[in-house]
This record gives sequence, C-alpha cells and structure tokens, in this order.
Amino acid sequence: MLCAQRLGSLAAGLAARRVSTSWSPVGAAFNVKPQGRRLDLFRERRADFVKIAHPEPAFREAAEETCRSIGTMVEKLNTNVELYQSLQKLLSDKKLVDSLDVETRRVAELFMFDFEISGIHLDEEKRKRAVDLNVKILDLSSKFLMGTNFPNKIEKHLLPDHIRHNFVRDGDLVVVDGLHAEAPNDLVREAAYRIFLYPNASQLKYLEELLSNRDLLAKLVGYSTFSHRALQGTIAQKPETVMQFLEKLSDKLCERTIKDFEMMRQMKMKLNPQNSELMPWDPPYYSGVIRAVVHESEGLLGYIYCDFFQRADKPHQDCHFTIRGGRLKEDGDYQLPVVVLMLNLPHSSRNSPTLLTPGMMENLFHEMGHAMHSMLGRTRYQHVTGTRCPTDFAEVPSILMEYFSNDYRVVNQFARHYQTGQPLPKNMVSRLCESKKVCAAADMQLQVFYATLDQIYHGEHPLRKPTTDILKETQEKFYGLPYVPNTAWQLRFSHLVGYGAKYYSYLMSRAVASMVWKECFLQDPFNRAAGERYRREMLAHGGGKEPMLMVQGMLQKCPSIDDFVNALVSDLDLDFETFLMDSK
Ligand SMILES: [Zn+2]
Repeated sequence: MLCAQRLGSLAAGLAARRVSTSWSPVGAAFNVKPQGRRLDLFRERRADFVKIAHPEPAFREAAEETCRSIGTMVEKLNTNVELYQSLQKLLSDKKLVDSLDVETRRVAELFMFDFEISGIHLDEEKRKRAVDLNVKILDLSSKFLMGTNFPNKIEKHLLPDHIRHNFVRDGDLVVVDGLHAEAPNDLVREAAYRIFLYPNASQLKYLEELLSNRDLLAKLVGYSTFSHRALQGTIAQKPETVMQFLEKLSDKLCERTIKDFEMMRQMKMKLNPQNSELMPWDPPYYSGVIRAVVHESEGLLGYIYCDFFQRADKPHQDCHFTIRGGRLKEDGDYQLPVVVLMLNLPHSSRNSPTLLTPGMMENLFHEMGHAMHSMLGRTRYQHVTGTRCPTDFAEVPSILMEYFSNDYRVVNQFARHYQTGQPLPKNMVSRLCESKKVCAAADMQLQVFYATLDQIYHGEHPLRKPTTDILKETQEKFYGLPYVPNTAWQLRFSHLVGYGAKYYSYLMSRAVASMVWKECFLQDPFNRAAGERYRREMLAHGGGKEPMLMVQGMLQKCPSIDDFVNALVSDLDLDFETFLMDSK
C-alpha cells in the first residue's frame, strides 16, 4: 500500500503534508483489507470510521464521498514519477542515507518498496502492463469475493423431505447459502456442505486467473513468486520460512488432532450410532457439543461499564480505528494518537447493568491491545505508527491481551458479581480457560491447512495441478479428514484475496504473543519491568523497526521456528488439575 499519508510523512524534499486516507486502489490489488474479527486490522482512518459508524446517514454519505476523492488523489501520488525519482535520488546518496536515523531509513525504504510494487520503476511498456495487471487483479478479486458468498440452489426434490425446512425455499428450488455448520442434524450439515461447496465453473476460472495474474505481476516487479513479494518486511520474510513453520506445527499437532477427532467421533457415535464416521462437516458442531459438556456453567465473567453500545445501523463488528496516528511534529511536540474501540455491547436494562460474557470480555481486551499499540507507539512518522506494521506482527499486542484476560490474577482485579460484589470464583475462571483448549488442536490444524493452501496457491506458477487437486492433497496431508468428491472449498476461501500469501499471520502472531506471555508475564502479570520493556521494545516502534528485532528485544533471545511451534502447541495442554477440581 502506498497512501498519501505515507508520502506526507517522509520529511522535506518530498512533497507536502497530506491528510489521512484509506487504501489506494493499486495498492489494494496487493493488500486488500482483511476481514473477520481476529484480523480486524487497523488501517481504517477517520473518514472510514465515520463512513461505517456515524448514526446520521448524511454524515456517512459525506464520509464515503471524502474517501473516494482522497482515494483518487492517492492514486495520482502513487504514480507520480517525480516523487519516486527524488526518493530514489535520496536513497542512492550513501552519505545522506547513513546520516538518517534507523526509523527514517526504514520508512524511506518502505516508500520505495511501495512505489516499486506499483511498477513505477519499470520502463514505459512494462509499467503499462503492471497497471493493466493491477486493474485486472482488482476486477478478478471483487468477482471472486462476490462468488465466495453466492448461494447455490438445487431442485427441492433432490433433498430428503424431512430436512428441506432447514433451508430457504425459492419456488421449486432450495437455496443453500452457507455450511450450516452448527446444525445438530448430521444430514443437514452434509447436504449443506456438498451443495454449498459444489464447484462453480466461473468461480474456478476467477480464482485461477487471479492467482496467475498475481504471479505475473510479482514476476514483472522482480519477485519469483507472489508469496515472496507479500512476505517482504514480515517476521517470516520468505515463503520457505512460512512453510517450515506450518509443516513443523502440523507435525507437532498431528497426535493431538487425532485425539480430538477421536473424541468427536465418539460423541458422534453416541448421538448418531448408524453413522459415526467423522466427516469435514462435523468438527464445528461436535467440538461445540463437547465443550458444552465440559463447562455447563459458562456464565458471566463480570461487568465493565463501557461506552460502546449497540445501536441501529451500527455494523456488528468489534474493531479498532486509528483516527489520528502519533508522530513527531516539526515543532518537536508529539502528536498524540487518537483511536476508537468499537464494540457491540448490549445496553443496560432496568434490572441489570451491562454484563459482559467471557467472549465479550476477551474481545474487549483484544481490541484494547490494538488500542495500546497505537497509544504507546512513539514513532517519528505517522506512516509506521502503532498498528501500521507487518501483518504477521500486527496481532501480537491484541492476542497478548487475551492471555491477560484469561488469567485469574488479572480478572480478579475487576470482575465482581453485579449484585453481591463477590469476586469471581477462581475455579470458574480456570475452568472456562481450560474449556477453550478442548478440541483446539483440531481447530489449529485446520488453520494450518488453510495457511498452507494459501502458500501453495501463491507459490510457484504454473501450479503443478488444478486448484481442487491441490486442495485435496493439502487437506489429506495437513488436516486429516477426507476430501469430499465434487466439492471445492477453495472457491469459498475469501481470505485468499485479502491476505494473499499471509494467511499464516494469525498463527505467527499468536506464537509470538504466547512466547511473550510465558517468558515475561506468566510469573507476574503485573510485573512493571516487563511491562516497561514490552512498551519500549515492542509497542513503541509500530512498523518503524524490523519485526524480528522487536521480538528479539522483548524475549532477549532470537527464537527459532521450533520455539514458535512449541509456544503454540504447549498452549493446548490441558491442566488436568483444573478439571479434577471442577468435577467435584
Ligand atoms: Zn485484532
């Protein structure tokens, strides 16, 4: 991404200061904003926030218009050869570069990188090709994304009578608009799986073209694969490291996953003795059943009074917006960051205040982690402030906060019964935390499978096999439940667009957060020295320092791939004492 703000923040000699902005269309071809709660990223700005969250439609419309016109301006800047040339001149002057501080140098290099992925350094003809490819990729991305949600319809007589009522009807057709993964009836889930994932020829074509055009573009601007381009500047740095990470993780998970699957299989046998083979449509449902069994007492963890309530027209999404990033101003003052935490908490009623479920509390802590990243960042440039850092580092602060939110010593500081004032019983908190580990290996294994698929699709082209054959092969090797013939899950994998070779990022961020928690906070979550170090070594730098250097600074050692893997896997260990304690 190259945005006006980035340009604006690179000191004198390089154009004027500019307002904050959203994604540039060209940059977006590489780096569309990811979706989903966990990677709710952070790149939204003021206009985006107003566009999404303002209660008045007129304000939302005006904000949308603003976003559009800023986008157009950014587009012009992205392709401004003069700006590019003056940056190039600056970077080729070794004496000048040596005189820059580390953060300034990194920001200049990031700018250069952004310019070059847009193909600005190429000759006229190639530049034109790059622009064409970008336009094509954008178009294919939006077509593919649209198709990932598109319902499939079949004639109603093809479905057994007794399950038809589970689906929406359209005349003589039955509409299947998703996997119905939580449906208790095995047959409903199976039918939904087979129908919703039935391959669609044009969707398949969009995916193949998207992948091959990304590959062409990456090669045109000097990378051997799209994945190599996407991973520049991340913790992992190159696809080989990501694959090593995923393969080792998969090996370590394997045994645990088999146990999880066995547990689910037994539960299935108990509930449906005629058909107890575990199929890909089963895990979300049966792992849910098993978890419920484990903690029948899931209750309220406490309450926090908060400003962030539900209202009409507000998107149902917890996220964090940077309204204004921090930066050093010319007059030497520091411009303080302003962020918004958007939550969807229920309103208090006459009988009770707003009570947070454990899930809501964890979300609050998670988003608060992003906010702290912004609040405590002290970068010189807004370009790299707070959460504007490599994707595989971005979720470290927020996931670390989840570890805090799951620790009794922390929860006990604020969680009280809203009527009696009693603190939460310790075993309730421990048990709740332990219950999250049930079937967690199988969940993680699924993420490994998805991340591997993303790597292979964005790796060497032409692909060795059709995308569906690769899916089948990868599912068997990295997941373990059988591939179901005539299905093509990859055609519903919308994150291929947004993450493009970086789907592994969440696992990587979690591994780092886990190491930071265990090495620095597990013994004493309130350790002031560890907290100060965390701020100094990790939060202060935003994206202004290489992510691996921040990790090293915090852990005071350089973690190996095995360390990453072990951190993730050891989190899955159940603490049996907690269960014994609770079973009384
Ligand atoms: Zn997040």
